Amino acid sequence: MRYVSTRNTSKTFEFKDVFIKGLADDGGLFIPERLVKYDENEIRDLKKLSYSELAKKIVYPFIGNFMSEADLSKIIYKSYSTFRKDNVVDLIKLGDKTVLELFHGPTLAFKDVAMQLLGNFYEYYLNNENQKINIVVATSGDTGAAAIDAIKGKKNVNIFVLHPDNRISPVQRKLMTTNKDENVFNIAIKGNFDDCQNLVKSMFADKKFSNDIKMSGVNSINWARIIAQSVYYFYSYFLVENIGELTNFSVPTGNFGDVYAGYLAKKMGLPINKLIVATNQNDILHRAISKGSYEAEKVSETISPSMDIQIASNFERLIFDLNNEDDKQTSLDMKNIKERGQYLISKNKLNKIRENFLSARIGEDETLKVIKRVYEKFAVVLDPHTAIGYGAFDKHKLKGNNIVLATAHPCKFPGAIESAINVKADLPNQLTFILDQKENYEIIENDFEKVKQYIKDRT
Ligand SMILES: *Cc1c(COP(=O)(O)O)cnc(C)c1O
Repeated sequence: MRYVSTRNTSKTFEFKDVFIKGLADDGGLFIPERLVKYDENEIRDLKKLSYSELAKKIVYPFIGNFMSEADLSKIIYKSYSTFRKDNVVDLIKLGDKTVLELFHGPTLAFKDVAMQLLGNFYEYYLNNENQKINIVVATSGDTGAAAIDAIKGKKNVNIFVLHPDNRISPVQRKLMTTNKDENVFNIAIKGNFDDCQNLVKSMFADKKFSNDIKMSGVNSINWARIIAQSVYYFYSYFLVENIGELTNFSVPTGNFGDVYAGYLAKKMGLPINKLIVATNQNDILHRAISKGSYEAEKVSETISPSMDIQIASNFERLIFDLNNEDDKQTSLDMKNIKERGQYLISKNKLNKIRENFLSARIGEDETLKVIKRVYEKFAVVLDPHTAIGYGAFDKHKLKGNNIVLATAHPCKFPGAIESAINVKADLPNQLTFILDQKENYEIIENDFEKVKQYIKDRT
C-alpha cells in the first residue's frame, strides 16, 4: 500500500515514512492511495477472531513491506499483553446502550490501544536502522502518558511531551511526570493545548531543526494510530450485532482522530450506520456538522480536558474526501482556515458529511448530570469524556445498537466525579504509587525558540 499527502497526491510514500514522519512535509496528512475493502463474506470471517488476531488482519495490509506478517503478529501480542483484559477492551450493557471500555491499558485511556503498538513499531524500526530519533508530541492530557508508557526505556529514542500547564488533571500529569526513564522529558507550556500543538507543528515545519534532531511525531494525525483504532470498531460491532439492526457509535471527540478511525472502518466495509461526533463546549466540530461553518473560537477549560481543542487536525482528512481527493482544493481550504480562521461547508458537502456523521454538544452541567444519572441507574461511573458520548445518544434517539466509546477511566478525573456524585474514583491498585512520587517537569513559556533550545540541549 502506498500513501499520499492530502495536499499533494502526485508523490507517494511507504508506510515507514508515514509512520516516522507523522505529518507530510507539505503540511498535509498522509492517506492511503487505495483502501482494502471487505465484502460481506469477508466481514463475516473477521467476526470469529480474537482481538489480537483481528488487529493483525486489519493492520497488515496497511504496512506494506515494513515488517512480515509473523513479526506483526508478535508485536501485536506483545503490545496487548500490557492490557488488563485478555481481549484488550470490554463491553458493558447499560439499558439500551452498550459502553465499549477502551481504558484497560497502562495509562487508563483509549490512547494506549494505538500507542502501545506504535512504541513497538519504533523499537522494531530503530533496531533495523541504527539511528537515534526524537519524538516530540503535544498532549491535552492522555496522549502524553500513553506515548511515554509506550516509549520509555526503549533504545535510540527520546520522547518530549508538551502539555498545557495547569490545564490537565493532576492524575493525568502524574502519569507522565513521575516517570524516571532517562529518555523521557516533560514540558509544561504556559498556554493551552492548541498552543502546544502549534509549537510542535512549527518545529516540524522548521526543516533545519526537525532534520537535525531527527524529529518524529505520534500525535493523533499519525496514520498508524488511526489504523490501530479502527480495530475496536470492528471488534465491538461483531459483539453487539443484532442481525438486521443498525449499529451506531458515539465518540467523545477532540482532534477527530478516534471518530475518523470509525469512518475508516466504515469505508473498509464495516456496515456502521452513524458516527456521532460528541463534543464538550469546545464545539467547533458540532458547529461544523450542524451548521456548516468550521470556525475556531477561543478554547475554554472544561472537566473533559482531553477534548479542549478548537483545531481538529484530523478534519483535514475528511475535507480531502469531501473534495473528492482533490489535493489543490484541499490545500486551498487549509490555507483559508489558517488565514481566515474559517471553512464554510457547502450544502452538498454537508449532506455528504451527514450520511456518515451526526454531532452533539454536551455542556458542563449536562455532563455532570449524565454521570449522576448513569450512576444512580446502573451503579457505573463514567468519566466526563465518556459521559459526553453517552449524553450525545440521548440527543439523537437512534434505533438499533448504540455503542458509546468509553475513552478514559473515571479515576483520571476525580474532581469531576466527586462533584457529580460525591464518590471518590480510585486509581486501580497497580497505579496508586504515582500519587506520592516525585514529579519531574520543566515549565516553559509559549515561546518557540525557548522550547526548541530546551529540546536541542537534550538530544
Ligand atoms: C484524546 C481523547 C479524546 C479525543 O479523541 P480524538 O481522537 O482527539 O478526537 C476523547 N477522550 C479522551 C479521554 C481522550 O484522551
